[in-house]
Amino acid sequence: MRQPVVMGNWKLNGSKEMVASLIKGLDAELNGVSGVTVAIAPPHLYLDLAEQVLDKAANKIVLGAQNVDLKDSGAFTGDVSPVMLKDFGATHIIIGHSERREYHNESDEYVAEKFAVLKAHGLVPVLCIGETEAQNEAGETEAVCARQIDAVIKTQGVEALDGAIIAYEPIWAIGTGKAATAEDAQRIHASIRAHIAKESADVAEKVIIQYGGSVKPENAASYFAQPDIDGALVGGASLDAVSFAAIAKAAAEANA
Ligand code: PEP
Repeated sequence: MRQPVVMGNWKLNGSKEMVASLIKGLDAELNGVSGVTVAIAPPHLYLDLAEQVLDKAANKIVLGAQNVDLKDSGAFTGDVSPVMLKDFGATHIIIGHSERREYHNESDEYVAEKFAVLKAHGLVPVLCIGETEAQNEAGETEAVCARQIDAVIKTQGVEALDGAIIAYEPIWAIGTGKAATAEDAQRIHASIRAHIAKESADVAEKVIIQYGGSVKPENAASYFAQPDIDGALVGGASLDAVSFAAIAKAAAEANA
């Protein structure tokens, strides 16, 4: 049985005050909630503070990050290494988010290199995949997702996906309020799992596949009722403790 993972992607949002109060608020909201892994990905600059506040939390909230660069150390101005992320207790690292693919020209191959680096350091890649609106309308969604996953499988083997998380995020649904229907998301999740199963039924059965794209407390339960949707990657709604906790609770209830 796969335990759902609900992860908050805070993107470029935060201040010292906000980080502390959001984590404390989330911690209070999560009292008594079990059966779901809850993770947050603050901006890199706030990982230190987040780690300190999480240390005092009553509930287990996993610390994640929004990106990683390839090298451990050296002359790479502005980069953040996997070693540094580990140093601050971040374990679940988002890679391949569509905003990085678009604004930083990150290719499937480059994202796969990041995937390998995270695995080499014992970190959990949260590999974002998903299609543009035009690709969706052209009926290319399954092929795009397969291609993005194959960049990892071809270079590292299907076993690399063992213990990793895939976040299916249709780009047209991110931050737009235009969420995919639960049925459409389930169809794509099933196709992603089936694609992986061609290489390894065991890995496919175990891999967590989150849905991401305008998940809110109001629609969360409909996603989590689907057999192949194992949690969510949440942007906007993760910036509010009550909303984000409500999504986590919906995942816990679906898993009860
Ligand atoms: C995201 O950025 O990963 C995301 C899913 O954002 P939102 O929930 O705001 O659509």
